[in-house]
Amino acid sequence: MNDKRSTGDWQRIDVANYLHPFTDHLALATGKALILARGSGSHVWDTDGNRLLDGFAGLACVALGYGRRELGEAAARQIGELSYSSSFFRGTNKPAIALAEKLVRLTPEGLNHVFFANSGSEANDTAIRMVRQYWRLVGQPARQIIIGREAAYHGSTVAAGALSGMPAMHEQGARLAEVVHIKAPYQFAYGRGIEESQFAVIAANWLEEKILEVGPERVAAFFAEPIQGAGGFKMPPRGYFGEIQRICNKYGILLVIDEVITGFGRSGRWFASELYEIADIDLMCIAKGITSGYVPLSAVMVGDRVASALIDKGGLFAHVFTSSGHPVSCTVALENIRILEDERIIERVAQDIAPYFGEQLGKLAGHEIIGEVRCVGLMGALELVRSSKTLEPIDNAEEVCEKVRDLGLAHGIIVRPVHSTVTIAPPLVITRAEIDYLVERLRLTLDEFAVCLRAK
Ligand code: PMP
Repeated sequence: MNDKRSTGDWQRIDVANYLHPFTDHLALATGKALILARGSGSHVWDTDGNRLLDGFAGLACVALGYGRRELGEAAARQIGELSYSSSFFRGTNKPAIALAEKLVRLTPEGLNHVFFANSGSEANDTAIRMVRQYWRLVGQPARQIIIGREAAYHGSTVAAGALSGMPAMHEQGARLAEVVHIKAPYQFAYGRGIEESQFAVIAANWLEEKILEVGPERVAAFFAEPIQGAGGFKMPPRGYFGEIQRICNKYGILLVIDEVITGFGRSGRWFASELYEIADIDLMCIAKGITSGYVPLSAVMVGDRVASALIDKGGLFAHVFTSSGHPVSCTVALENIRILEDERIIERVAQDIAPYFGEQLGKLAGHEIIGEVRCVGLMGALELVRSSKTLEPIDNAEEVCEKVRDLGLAHGIIVRPVHSTVTIAPPLVITRAEIDYLVERLRLTLDEFAVCLRAK
């Protein structure tokens, strides 16, 4: 967008008229927004021309990097041909059908149907609705309780916010009486010193304990991200999902996997469910990387158990969005997937760039304020502590977030601190040289932050 306004002008108008999401509006009004003007590959530039390496791929969505013209050209072609079509009243369109066919091929076995929405939150909301409709249809309407996990993030609508394990959202009205939470399989906090496979069993048993506490005949579904994303890239211990699956099967509970962040190559596989060998998935939520964030689109992949109940028993499934199966979004997704396949981007992540990323990030282990470095695919987490020797936690986690983010920006990188964890999730197309730069700048950022901590 070209015009004559200065950065200061944009910032004033921004504060005057734009209520940003997930923001302390008082802090924003007294500070300054970072206004991005353009992007290319793994970099973005602000309105003053400063270049930043985007170590978080937008919000872990810009898989292909910024500025791929093919996606714009595909969108323009589709807008010229058919710019909108609803999927109501037996309506549909070719891009939505073609994308549904493609997604069924790409996602794990048994997920043979797709319901389209616009955001990860809507996908999870849809999954909740489907779970409930399923149990009504099969004659077990008492199955109302949904089990989620603390530190989970499934979105920000009332239902998805309730399902998430984020107290700040619950306090602001995102609550559902039917949602209960169990502890996350977070070994750094709950399983230090315990052997990984043993911790996997302990953490999975928290699900069984909750099922028995609530009453198995009342439990509808268990929702989980393969790796907890917004919770700070918390990876499950090996064997956790095998146990979870066994428990879900034992009590006949639907298993809903949220791959909104982990899908489309971020784990080095198309879906992290492959990595953790999660089978028998009833519903799978996907978004973000499906269009590399260029246009909004999400979907729920629906397994045969739920789809056949909906189809065989019939009756109106009274759930819809105006833009469900939007032809332009679906076209962009098809083009995005074509590029991921043709350029073998996920293979490159798995074989070269993710191992290199893990190796370089691993070099930060031992830093005086790092308690743990975790990495799977292109998802990295640095657990910050007051001292790597004592693992003493940092008390004011919110302050940490702000400070580390700002220091990172001053060093030319975007990373995402969550409480006292710094999370990194660059575009899948990041190069080795860019990783070197990112890690070097991260080290400088943390060195400076360590000085601030010591001064307190
Ligand atoms: N699920 C997961 C795992 C997510 O990470 C997110 C967003 N970060 C969502 C759901 C919500 O997606 P959206 O912001 O598109 O509503």
